Amino acid sequence: MPIRPIVKFGDPVLHQPAAPVERIDDAVRALFDDMIETMYAAPGIGLAAPQVGVPLRVIVIDLSVGEDPKQVIKLANPEFLEREGEQKHEEGCLSVPGYAGSPTRPARVVVRGTAPDGEERVYTATELLARAFCHEIDHIDGLVFVDRLSPLKRDLMKRKLRKKAREGWEEE
Ligand SMILES: [Zn+2]
Repeated sequence: MPIRPIVKFGDPVLHQPAAPVERIDDAVRALFDDMIETMYAAPGIGLAAPQVGVPLRVIVIDLSVGEDPKQVIKLANPEFLEREGEQKHEEGCLSVPGYAGSPTRPARVVVRGTAPDGEERVYTATELLARAFCHEIDHIDGLVFVDRLSPLKRDLMKRKLRKKAREGWEEE
């Protein structure tokens, strides 16, 4: 299972909505597996397909970063059934290395999507898992956490990030 390169802020694939998965085939299952490997290698707790340059509505999340198989979440076409309340905590992103911000997120979400076995799954999440779902679903909608900050912080950070993107993100 190959680790795929993670694209950075400024790459167009990160800033446009991704397409729905029409059916779960071997290519999509391979994408899930590669995304998991890539996320663990980073390491990170979530990854969306656009972050590996694939414009599809596919996300993976594992708050245990490989420690607990029960926490692995792989979803195609995830969507919110419910969003309620508010929470605000610092987030980072593998596609925006070296930066962090605290967007306002729902306190509780219910998310439905399709698992690699083709079956529908519904997750109810709070706290960090709710934030992870919001962060990854934002990615497949073409948004990064920076887009969710207050206008002042967003504009300041975007100016720096555009400069980074112009000059080229150095390899880590
Ligand atoms: Zn991210």
